Amino acid sequence: MKNDLPDILHTARAIFDSLTPLATDCGRLCAGRCCQPMEGENTGMLLFPGEAAYYENLPGYVVKSTPAGELLTCSGACNREDRPLSCRLFPLLPVLRPDGVKVATDLRAKPVCPLARQGKSALLPEFVEAVRACGRLLAEDGEQRRFLVKLTNQQDDLKALRDQFGGGKRV
Ligand code: SF4
Ligand code: SF4
Repeated sequence: MKNDLPDILHTARAIFDSLTPLATDCGRLCAGRCCQPMEGENTGMLLFPGEAAYYENLPGYVVKSTPAGELLTCSGACNREDRPLSCRLFPLLPVLRPDGVKVATDLRAKPVCPLARQGKSALLPEFVEAVRACGRLLAEDGEQRRFLVKLTNQQDDLKALRDQFGGGKRV
């Protein structure tokens, strides 16, 4: 454990210490919308298994248990080293398919993030590859792998719902 974080999450988070979706600060495109709380909505960043303990005594963060999993809410500003893995991956996600780990645009990001609406091709290729590497690392651990399966199923459920109102392809 490092800083109350399982070693595998410490390694996964470190992949993104100096990697972001664009070479420039994408927050300038949208005034950092993904960091702004949405009033009246039960929003937050989904924590990976074992990640909640990192925030237990860290001022400015609250962890809530919800049916979707443990959600972290923040003040809308943070130290970069404290960002949870979900924020580092955003707006992408590693998903598990029968032929291995794939990189998907997080469907939950599309209403918020202009990059998510453009898709992976708009992002830094190194960032996309880092998300794949992160997914492969997590898939080697039983608990993290089960969580990736859950995330994949959530994305498929969202996709099925979206398909009732329009097109779209599974990643
Ligand atoms: S919403 Fe998208 S474009 Fe805006 S800061 Fe977040 S990741 Fe970058
Ligand atoms: S933890 Fe940091 S990066 Fe994540 S939503 Fe909060 S302010 Fe944004």
